Amino acid sequence: MKIFDEIESEVQSYARSFPRVFNRTKGELMWDSDGQEYLDFLAGAGTLNYGHNNELFKAPLLQYIEDDGIAHGLDMHTKAKGEFLQAFNDNILKARSMEYIMQFTGPTGTNAVEAAMKIARNVTGQQNIVTFTNGFHGVSLGSLAATGNSHHRDAAGVSLTGTHRMPYDGYLGDDIDTTEYLDKVLSDSSSGINSPAAVIVETVQGEGGINVASIEWLKNLQAVCRKHKILLIVDDIQAGCGRTGSFFSFEEAGIEPDIITLSKSLSGYGLPLAVVLMKPELDQWKPGEHNGTFRGNNLAFITARLAIEHYWKDNRFADETKRKGQYISARLEKIVNQYGEGNFSARGRGMFQGINCVNGEIAGEITRRAFKKGLIIETSGADDHVVKFLCALIISDENLKKGIDIVEESIREVCAKEDIPEEVVYFRAS
Ligand SMILES: *Cc1c(COP(=O)(O)O)cnc(C)c1O
Repeated sequence: MKIFDEIESEVQSYARSFPRVFNRTKGELMWDSDGQEYLDFLAGAGTLNYGHNNELFKAPLLQYIEDDGIAHGLDMHTKAKGEFLQAFNDNILKARSMEYIMQFTGPTGTNAVEAAMKIARNVTGQQNIVTFTNGFHGVSLGSLAATGNSHHRDAAGVSLTGTHRMPYDGYLGDDIDTTEYLDKVLSDSSSGINSPAAVIVETVQGEGGINVASIEWLKNLQAVCRKHKILLIVDDIQAGCGRTGSFFSFEEAGIEPDIITLSKSLSGYGLPLAVVLMKPELDQWKPGEHNGTFRGNNLAFITARLAIEHYWKDNRFADETKRKGQYISARLEKIVNQYGEGNFSARGRGMFQGINCVNGEIAGEITRRAFKKGLIIETSGADDHVVKFLCALIISDENLKKGIDIVEESIREVCAKEDIPEEVVYFRAS
C-alpha cells in the first residue's frame, strides 16, 4: 500500500523489519492482507503474553461494549475499574502477601515510569535516580534520562538530567558484583554521586538485550538500597505479567520493591493500560498532581480482570510458562553449542530468552531469514545483536517447536553462508 510511504513518518521501526500489511491475528498466529500466515515470536514486544484476540476475553469485552459499558471515564470510579482492582488485590497482591497502592497513569509504560520517578523524588526530596547500563524505561524525557540507548537519547533535543548510571549485573564481567561498587560510591561522601532518591531496575533487560540480573544480585541491590535508605523501583513493564514464569519477575529473588511499574501485558488484550504500585506510605500524591486523560482505560479493565482471574488464580499458568521456558532454554543451548563456535550464546529467564549473536549484522540476517520462513522475530540490545524470543506464553508446544526450528534453520543458513532465498515460504500451523 502506497499510503504508508506517502504520509507515515520515517520514525517507523517494526514496520521496516516486517514489511507486510497485517490484517488478522489469533493466538500466536498472524495473517497479512494476502492471507499469508505468520508465527508471531514478537508478541507486541511483550504486550501479548496471553496471545492475540484471546477467546476468553473477547466475548466479555464485546458484551461490555454491546451493553454500552463505560469506555472512557477519566479517573472516575466505574464498575469495571472496581472489579479489576478487586481481582488484582485478591489474586495478585494478597495471594503474595503484598500490600501496595495502585495508581493509574496515562496508558503507556513510559508514563508509569515518569510517575514512579516523581513519587521517589517527591517523597525523598532527592533528585538523583540511579539507573543501569543498557536499561530501557521509555522515551519521554524523564524516562529517557533513565534509558541507556544512545539512539533514543540522542533524539531528546535537551539535556537529560536527574539520573546517574551504574553498571548492571555482569557489565564488568561475571566475577564482579556491581552492587559492591554502588555500595562503595554511596558510602563515600567524596564519590561525587549525589545521594539518590531511588534505583530503577529491570530484572531482565528486554530492550537492552535480554540481560538477566542474577537472583543474588537483585537481593544485594535491595540490601544496598535499604542500607542507604534509597527506594527500589522495579520496572516490570516487559518482564512482568508472567514473562519470566511468575507474575512479577522479582518473585524468585524474594525482594520487596518500594515501587513497581506494570504495563505491556497487563490488559491481556493489547489494550493500553499502565499502573504504578507503591508502598502505602509513599502515596503522598495530592489530587490530580499526576494526571492523564486516558488514565484508567475501562475496556482494558475488563480484559485485565479476566486475565488475572483466569491465569493467576493458581500456579498452573506459571508452571506451564516455566516448563516452556525450560524447553526454550534447552533448545537455545543446543543451537548455540552446535553452531556457536563461541560466536553465539543463549540467555534469559522463563519465556524471556535470547541468542546473543555478538554483532547486529548476523542477528539481523537471522531474523530476516526467519521472516522469509514466516516467523516474526526481532532483535534487541545496544547493537541489535540479540535475537529476542518473546512468543505468547499461551503458545502451543507444537508452534513453539516450529518457531525455534525456523530460527535454528536460519542460523544454520547464516553459518553456511547460504544466499538469502528470493522466495518466501510462509508459515503453516498444523
Ligand atoms: C516497553 C517498556 C517501557 C516503555 O513502555 P511504552 O509503553 O513503550 O512507553 C518501559 N520500560 C520497559 C522495561 C519496557 O520494556
